[in-house]
Parts: sequence; structure tokens; C-alpha cells
Amino acid sequence: MVQEKGTISINTENIFPIIKKFLYSDNEIFLRELVSNAADATQKVKRLASLGHYNQELGELKIQVSVNPEAKTITISDRGIGMTADEIKKYINQIAFSGATEFMEKFKEAKDANEIIGRFGLGFYSAFMVADKVEIQTLSYQDGAEPARWICDGSTSFEITEGDRTERGTEVILYINAESEEFLREQRLQEILNKYAKFLPVPVQFGTKKESVADGEDEEGKAKYKTVDVDNIINNTNPIWTKAPGELKDEDYLDFYRELYPFSEEPLFWIHLNVDYPFNLTGVLYFPKLKNDFEIQKNKIKLFSRQVFITDEVKDIVPEFLMLLHGVIDSPDIPLNVSRSFLQADSNVKKINSYISRKVADKLSEIFKKDRKAYEEKWNDIGLFVKYGIVSDEKFYEKAKDFLLLTNTRNEHYTLEEYNAKVKDFQTDKNGSLVYLYTVDAERQHSYVQAANKKEYDVLLMNSPIDTHFIHHLETKLEKTSLKRVDADVVDKLIVKEDTATHTLTEEEAAKLKTVFEKAISNPLMKVEVESQHAEGMPVTITMEEWMRRMKDMSKLGGGMNFYGSMPDTYKVAINANHKVIAKILQAEEGQQTGMAKQAFDLALLAQGMLKGADLTAFVERSVEVI
Ligand code: ADP
Repeated sequence: MVQEKGTISINTENIFPIIKKFLYSDNEIFLRELVSNAADATQKVKRLASLGHYNQELGELKIQVSVNPEAKTITISDRGIGMTADEIKKYINQIAFSGATEFMEKFKEAKDANEIIGRFGLGFYSAFMVADKVEIQTLSYQDGAEPARWICDGSTSFEITEGDRTERGTEVILYINAESEEFLREQRLQEILNKYAKFLPVPVQFGTKKESVADGEDEEGKAKYKTVDVDNIINNTNPIWTKAPGELKDEDYLDFYRELYPFSEEPLFWIHLNVDYPFNLTGVLYFPKLKNDFEIQKNKIKLFSRQVFITDEVKDIVPEFLMLLHGVIDSPDIPLNVSRSFLQADSNVKKINSYISRKVADKLSEIFKKDRKAYEEKWNDIGLFVKYGIVSDEKFYEKAKDFLLLTNTRNEHYTLEEYNAKVKDFQTDKNGSLVYLYTVDAERQHSYVQAANKKEYDVLLMNSPIDTHFIHHLETKLEKTSLKRVDADVVDKLIVKEDTATHTLTEEEAAKLKTVFEKAISNPLMKVEVESQHAEGMPVTITMEEWMRRMKDMSKLGGGMNFYGSMPDTYKVAINANHKVIAKILQAEEGQQTGMAKQAFDLALLAQGMLKGADLTAFVERSVEVI
């Protein structure tokens, strides 16, 4: 019940407690923010120098991160452009405080710290998530600039005084608060730096490390070594995605892959992304060898913004079907700090999405054309992406239809066009429609596959998890073509031709057979039918209609057709009227007919992999008797 309505008066006094409390969950990003500010300042001075606006020594342009556990401080220092006292007032004080009102209104809606920080330009203020007090010592690059010092204890009052920095650049000193002492551990800081700053464009030094260096020769003239402390640079300032593809060798891509995913198998191939219009994006995407456990392989793409790591949740930026790819994407144009729903609606994100999809298609097409054999060898892994892409992305299909491969039970691969040419003579039915046959398991459905092959039919292998959808999709795309599983009907009826065999049984004989089998089977879900088939076929065949099985498969996949899912499985039991075994059953004595029919039916079950449990045991025992 609402008791009172009104506006909460906003006071900038409240901003720090809110930042601190609200952002507490991912407070480690303070380091990302401060280190990337330092990198920005460094890049700026470099740029000024290259434009001739700054003519003094640049010095060693690195960022230093250090920790002092006794004093409980973390210091981030750079040799960037620095700030004058006025600039501190302008950039540090005012920005945050002018944003405060809006901040107070919006912070409740925000989902995480990133969102708040990015939206309100509070990067620097994230320092207060872990510090009671923050000090800045800075000296601007400008001629005659005076060093300045800013200090703030997290309230709204701050102090600006003359500073004591003698070198151009900025030093930010954090006096770590009691709850955040974990960050005083060197290992913890190293971990955060590795996560966010590993590919920062400016060298980041964190502590020192031991290295052995040449130290003259001993009496016997052998080289001597000594251990010295050297700067520990934690980052690679020139990761391969920032380079031109022409400069890179395969080994560079593979090395980088190993650097990103140390325990993974080698990738199949990769794509170097590089666009600057209408958005900026660089990156390298790798096609991994697929393992059965997809979930583990998902979410491996790392998203960067100007070489600063942001997230490995790229769900909305990368098309869903490419989520299994690995690698990095770097784009300053992706709004990193806004909510999910906004991201999905963002037009840059949409363009990026279709760009990536197109690049992947182009790459696949290129490999296919350049080296068909290698492409076929990788098809097992690639196929899943391609099929997934075809099902989920219309534009992708338009390209993929030329390098999509269909694989048959003989492990031969065909493009759509090739396959059409291959089967059209034998597999066109009397209405002029093509029928492609497939199996989901060539071993299990061996007798059906063999029967089809005997008739010069080809059988495709459709055994990947996406194939149920893929088959359906393919039918909507191919003209006058349908797909049928090999056990969708008896082989003579899978593809209905004019010359379908006839039989010589009388109506009474056929009716008699039907009764005998119905009695032997005694299962209302098995619909017995006496049919004309070739004499060389099986005496009895169990089939399930294509549409029925598909509905069931779909509903198993959660396709929403639960009506079919709850229906019991019904099968057709086709009795081959032309088979000599059937003739024998018909001629046998009344007392033996049921037993013979049962045996023939069990054989059919066996061929379909449906003979199980007690029925299987009984069948085995009966067969032993016969011997
Ligand atoms: P943002 O980086 O999004 O602009 P910040 O709050 O992180 O927001 O920083 C505000 C401004 O303060 C920066 O734009 C920059 O002008 C200045 N600044 C912050 N850190 C440094 C630094 N290390 N050297 C020079 N200027 C800095």
C-alpha cells in the first residue's frame, strides 16, 4: 500500500556510499578503470608528440602498478599527459558531481557496476569501491605546468594543493579500505591485471621478476650467467588482432590461440576480422574442434574495447550459431556499459552481428574452394556450425548452400547441386518429385540401408544433434524434394514408382495373413498390412511414417507439438505378399502359423533394433530350439 508519494531530495553527499555499496560485487574492476585511464593518458601524449604538439622527451612510456602491504596502498602511475589543477577540477570533480543527480535516479535500475560506471563516466570513482582515501599526484605535459595533488576521503569534500611530482604523468594512490584487503595480495592483483590488462596497448609493469643474463666468461672460457631483477611486464601490447593479416603466419595465430586457451586442442582454422566502416571492429575468431559437450565450449569469445578486456559474455554481439567459436573481438563501438535489452536493439550491434556471420560464410567458402579435401576432412566439425547457421540465419543459407555438404553412409560428401545430380535418376518418384533418403544411425538401421542400396538408392547420414531441424529446413529450400528416413516405409514404397510390384494372393489369403499376424503380434499399435513388394525383400518390415516420426522428434526437442509427443508410437508391420516365407506361413498348418508369424515379426523387430527385454530372451530361446 502506498502511503506517501514524493521526490527524494538528492544530495551529492550520498553518492559515495551508494557507489561503494552498489558496486561492491565486482569491485575488482577498479583496477581495469584506473589502468585504462593511465593507458589513455599515455596514448594521448604519444599522439601529441607524433603530431608535433609536444616536443620534450617522452621517456619510458609504461604504466606501473605497485602495492605496499604495510602502508596498505596500491599505486597506479603513468607517464601520460598528466593534469593541471584546473583539469582535475574539470575532469575529476565536476564530471562525477554533475552526473550525481541523474545517477541517483538511475542507479536503482542498473543491473551491474559496468552499467553505472560507463553511463556516468565514473571510471575514476570506482577507486572508492576499494579505498577509503584516494590521492592523485600529477604533472601536466603543458609548458610551465605546476604539479598538482588532489586528495579525497570519499566524502564530497576534496582538497587540491600543490603537488610534488617532478615527472610528467599521473600517480593514483589508493588507501585500501578494511574490506578490500584482498587486493593488497600480489597474487590477487596479478590475477586481475591478467584478466583485464593482458593486451593493453601500453606496457604495464607489476613488480619485478628474476631473469638470468650473460655475465662474461669463466676461466675455461664458458659463458657465465647471473640472476638479476627485471621489470615484470604483464602484457602483450601488440596482440595479433591489432596487426595486419598480411604480417602474420599460421604459427602466430596458433601461438595466440595457445596463449588464450592453454589446454585446448588446436583449432581447425581462423578468421581475422578487420573493419573500420560503418563501425570499428577487429578480432580473430577460431573454429575449435568440437567436443560433445558444447556447453563447456560456449562463451569462450573474449570481448575487448581498445585492448581492454570487458567480458566473455558476447551473446548479443555474436550470432547464436557462432557462439561455439573461440577468440577475441575488439570494438570501441559496442556500447559495453549498457543493459542487455539496449544492446540487442543497438544498430551497431546488429551490423556487427551480420558482419561476423558474413565473414564466417566467406571464409568457409574460401576454404571449400581452395582445398575441398581438407574441407571435407574437417566437415565433421564444421558441419554443425554450417547447419546451425542455415537453420537460424536466412542470409547465411544463401551463401552456405554452395559449401554445405551432404554425407552419405559410404562417407562420401556432396554439395546440394552434386547430390541432386547424383540421385535424380533413381530417386525421382512417379510425380517427378525427388526423394532423399537418410538414416540417423547406419549401424542400427543397417538392413534398411542395405535394402535401399540394393535398389540403387543412396542414403544420407543425418546424425548430428541439429539434423531434425536441418532436414525440415532443407525441404523448405529445395525444390520438389522431400526427405524420408529409410524406415519410413518398406523399400518398395519409399519412392513410389509406376512399376510397383503386384502380388498374386487372393483377397481371402491376404485377409487370412492379416489375421494370423495380428494374433501373433497382439499389439494394437502395430498395424498389419499385406503389401506387394519385391520377392527379395524382407518377409516382414516395421516402419514408422515420416511425418509421425518427425512430429515426435520435434516434440522431443521441445518444438511445442506436445500433442504428438504424448501419442503412443504406432508402426506399420508390412507383410511382403511376394515373399516365400509368407507363402509358407499361409500354407502351414493352422497350429503352426502363429509361431511362424511371430518368428518373422521378431526378425523384423530385430532389424529395427526394437527387440528387447523378455521378447528378446524368448526369441533367443526359440532360435536355440530350432538349431
Ligand atoms: P572516463 O575515463 O570515462 O572519461 P574517468 O572518471 O575514468 O572517466 O576519468 C575522467 C577524466 O579524468 C578522464 O577523461 C581524463 O581526462 C582524466 N583522467 C583520469 N585519469 C587520468 C590519468 N591517469 N591521466 C590523465 N588524465 C586522467
